[in-house]
Amino acid sequence: MADIIQLLPDHVANQIAAGEVVQRPASVVKELLENAIDAGATVIKLIIKEAGKTLIQVIDNGKGMSGTDARLSFERHATSKIRNAEDLFQLHTKGFRGEALASIAAIAHVELKTKQEHDDVGTAIVIEGSKVTSQDVVVTPTGTAIAVKNLFFNIPARRNFLKSNTVELRHIIDEFHRVALAHPNISFSLYNNGSESFNVPVSNYRQRIVNLFGAKTNEKLVPVEEDTEVLKISGFVGKPEFAKKTRGEQYFFVNNRFIKSAYLNHAILSAFEGLLKSGTHPSYFLNLWVDPQTIDINIHPTKTEIKFDDEHTLYAILRSATKHSLGQFNIAPVLDFERDATLDTPYDLKSTSTEVPKIEVDRSFNPFEIATPSQPTGGSRGTSSASYTKAPSTDHWDSLYVGLESKGTMSQTDFSEVTFESEDTVSTLFDETDTSEATSSTYQLHNKYIISAIKSGMLVIDQHRAHQRILYEDFLRDITVKEGVSQQLLFPLELHFSQQELDIVKQLQQDLEHTGFVFSNLTDTSLEITGVPVMVPESEISIILEQLVSDVQNEVPDANFSATDLLAKSMAKSLAIKTGQSLQKDEQEHIVNKLFACKEPNVSPANRVTFITVGVDELDKKFI
Ligand code: ADP
Ligand code: MG
Repeated sequence: MADIIQLLPDHVANQIAAGEVVQRPASVVKELLENAIDAGATVIKLIIKEAGKTLIQVIDNGKGMSGTDARLSFERHATSKIRNAEDLFQLHTKGFRGEALASIAAIAHVELKTKQEHDDVGTAIVIEGSKVTSQDVVVTPTGTAIAVKNLFFNIPARRNFLKSNTVELRHIIDEFHRVALAHPNISFSLYNNGSESFNVPVSNYRQRIVNLFGAKTNEKLVPVEEDTEVLKISGFVGKPEFAKKTRGEQYFFVNNRFIKSAYLNHAILSAFEGLLKSGTHPSYFLNLWVDPQTIDINIHPTKTEIKFDDEHTLYAILRSATKHSLGQFNIAPVLDFERDATLDTPYDLKSTSTEVPKIEVDRSFNPFEIATPSQPTGGSRGTSSASYTKAPSTDHWDSLYVGLESKGTMSQTDFSEVTFESEDTVSTLFDETDTSEATSSTYQLHNKYIISAIKSGMLVIDQHRAHQRILYEDFLRDITVKEGVSQQLLFPLELHFSQQELDIVKQLQQDLEHTGFVFSNLTDTSLEITGVPVMVPESEISIILEQLVSDVQNEVPDANFSATDLLAKSMAKSLAIKTGQSLQKDEQEHIVNKLFACKEPNVSPANRVTFITVGVDELDKKFI
């Protein structure tokens, strides 16, 4: 009987291999991005059309290929990354199988342009279904641009199995996130159907996470660091109260490679034990570094699962490092304040005609100043605040705290019960020198709290939250009375946004202008700023607007949603002095004074307690 075994022709073998390597457009994205990284690129651009079904293009500024290599790169098992089997245990590149380009070229139309730095001209190759249709010399920048068109054009069954554009794009973005997270030292951008979806510059890891997932992420992250002989960990876990209903933001990278590991995931979950609401999943962005010799990444064709030599040890280290971080950052579930919608925008007076308050405030007035015999109560202060008709006398302030004495517990006080009103039109902070240092009664603790003596004991004020409250009310007032004071920029500042982002800015444009922003030249993707509110430093402008956009994007618009409120909150958050910032005496006092001139001094705009009181009687009890 005749022999029946034949070697499959290359293009058939490639098509079969493609079935493993290329499951969907996102697999192509992954392979092309990884090749660009392996080529040492520092700037990588990904262009997608119709969720990758018609076009996936990756443009890099890496080392490029010679003409011969460009041609060879499409051969199966053609790789520059390993030479022998031993190299598999010393892998420092993403790819090594030499299969990706061959597989992709077997099932799509591929156009490659590439040039090496020392060459004047580069190579262009067009290849369709494994057949090279042209190879030319071209003028092209150093690096590689590869376009993959009409994926699965020759395998209709596979093409029909692709999911909707929304689903396929989701997979692509997932892949983009993974690659961009693993390489914060590379700049990535993603364009989808002609508009920019992401553009993340080189940055540190935290900033990269924030750039990809929105500015709101920043406050959710708790750093995890560990350095042992077998395992180095660095990255972040999300605070438990921000745990998600879906399992989206969970990333392990081992030696810069995204991996999935149910076992290591379990290590994290067990570190979170008792901290999560049921049905929620913690976020994590963790980089693990191990000796490449102790892992085998070759057990899965799409390489997201790897085998560790000593999984148990890694589990234990990872769990304890995470637990330690959560403990150290004193993470406990936050109270869920029930919000009263009627209180949401106390200053939303837009529909009513508003009278601009013309009141000046005695900035040196210090409610906590203890009257000395030479200074008759309310006397000297009264004179310098001539037009301030409602200036509270020290007596008022004393009476303010009478109630506290009788309560005698560490508590937050409901200041709304107290009939005390104060208006302050000055919107700059710390711009005037305070003259009250001689009788200062504040003290800053750990660059975090301001301690202030009061008659019944002391106040402990959270500086960041207090300042947020102050700025929040300032901004709300500016927006509603349209009185924000603007400072002109020396040079107009041009900012770039995606179209969706700019739509948000446009939506808020009027309110922003009321705070003091001056815009010009709004196009579809950029805007020019010529003036900003006086209290906004130039260096903060883009951060503030980015924060604002992401806050609007992340906020689920519900019945309580008010753009004005959100804008004021977002700007207050961006500009408030941070925990860790050391404050001068006059700054401390300014915060204390301004806080208690607020309408709702006891909570931050996010409804967190801004200060507590500790009574002398409580202290007394401790000394019994
Ligand atoms: P692998 O990445 O596993 O080596 P690929 O099929 O993805 O296999 O790529 C084959 C070869 O083509 C690579 O080893 C590399 O030498 C070259 N190559 C692919 N993409 C690029 C690129 N963007 N820049 C430079 N060289 C590339
Ligand atoms: Mg590759």
